[in-house]
Amino acid sequence: MKVYNTLSRKKETFVPLEEGKVKMYVCGPTVYNYIHIGNARPMIVFDTVRRFMEYKGYEVNFVSNFTDVDDKIIKKAVEEGVSAQEIAERYMRECKQDMADMNVKPATVHPLATEEIDGMLEMISILIEKGYAYPVKDGTVYFRTRKFGEYGKLSHKNLDDLQAGHRDIKVSGEEKEDSLDFVLWKPKKEGEPYWESPWCQGRPGWHIECSVMARKYLGEEIDIHAGGEDLIFPHHENEIAQSEACSGKIFARYWLHNGFLNIDNKKMSKSAGNFFTVREIGEKYNLQVLRFFMLSAHYRSPLNFSEELMEAAKNGLERIWNAGMNLKHLIKNASQQHMTEEETRIWNDSDKFVLKFETVMEDDFNTADAITAIFELVKYINTNVTEKSSSEFLEKFYSRLNQLCDILGIILEQTEELLDEEIENLIKERQAARKEKNFARADEIRTILSEKGIVLEDTREGVKWKRV
Ligand code: AMP
Ligand code: ZN
Repeated sequence: MKVYNTLSRKKETFVPLEEGKVKMYVCGPTVYNYIHIGNARPMIVFDTVRRFMEYKGYEVNFVSNFTDVDDKIIKKAVEEGVSAQEIAERYMRECKQDMADMNVKPATVHPLATEEIDGMLEMISILIEKGYAYPVKDGTVYFRTRKFGEYGKLSHKNLDDLQAGHRDIKVSGEEKEDSLDFVLWKPKKEGEPYWESPWCQGRPGWHIECSVMARKYLGEEIDIHAGGEDLIFPHHENEIAQSEACSGKIFARYWLHNGFLNIDNKKMSKSAGNFFTVREIGEKYNLQVLRFFMLSAHYRSPLNFSEELMEAAKNGLERIWNAGMNLKHLIKNASQQHMTEEETRIWNDSDKFVLKFETVMEDDFNTADAITAIFELVKYINTNVTEKSSSEFLEKFYSRLNQLCDILGIILEQTEELLDEEIENLIKERQAARKEKNFARADEIRTILSEKGIVLEDTREGVKWKRV
């Protein structure tokens, strides 16, 4: 399996630290509002990476945090006149709901920053002992960036260029030894949540949280660390500096970063105000459509959000769902049980689609091409199954299609009620089929609808439908 590693800027063969196991950490959201669909991109793509690794037989220990103490959370709490904890708990709950609706699996562990303060105090103390960090008068603790010789190795930045960029910026506190030094611990401000520490009553800096949570739940050395590309610098660069200065070991072997979800070719972000929440999209579309849309591009490419692309994703997904429904319907009515010789040949020949799917996914998780392989399988199924097919043949194809969809987190079995719009579309398709004298398809649609509890009535004013 090849993965693109931001560290080397190359595709590398994936070799886990421990055979058959993957330790993976993905930076999670700061919970101060509903997540937007930009935040949903890393959730969906790295959930898919996890699913594919599991399909390949790896046991994946997948850790993803919630940042539940932060300036933005505190600001929102002040606005609403409630505690920061209440804001964080509320939006964490909502975020988990969105994740479930997008069929993103819960992580093995979802640690919360506020529950890991002891680990942070410990790591900061070790860094101070080793000379990598220092407290100043007001109790702020800084990381001594220049002491970590490899600083800049992930973002491929040069320290002197960085320093030049900092020259004009006034350093707050002015007690910092160097403008490149970053905060590990900071003193509380009036009314803010705080914890006791040897340096001052205060709270952790953002970067230390992830280093500590990764170390606690996965160990000092992990296989994969992932997040959006905006996290490469400074967040991930600082995580490397903290973790490697503390342990003396390589923190993460492979660094994976997703490209931005854009709108009008600009990064979608809360601060810019150009965003849609997952909730808003969920009012208009089944969130499986959002997932399918995200996976229709390579995870490292920028992806522009638009109504047209969402519609295209919806149509594509419906083609797959229809093939699934059709198979289910044929299975129910099949008269033959066992595969014929000819069916065996057709079945064996369809291995090529699975092979293609696996090959493109093993090449740095090319989900766009994996979707193409699924479409090819769908087409193959549609041309090779009939009412005369054996149930064994149909079931095998159903489970093959289901398995590939499942790796992408696409749910083939639609147990939910059909939306009104989906019903209307199926009715339209049935009318068109009748016009073309394709009565078999027209009947099939009637049956599909009736299995979902929708009854059609042909009246003089057209087709009417009702749920029974
Ligand atoms: P945040 O809550 O801003 O820390 O973001 C949580 C995750 O979402 C991080 O991995 C970010 O890199 C990612 N992210 C935020 N905005 C976007 C976007 N427009 N496109 C892709 N990823 C994003
Ligand atoms: Zn992080």
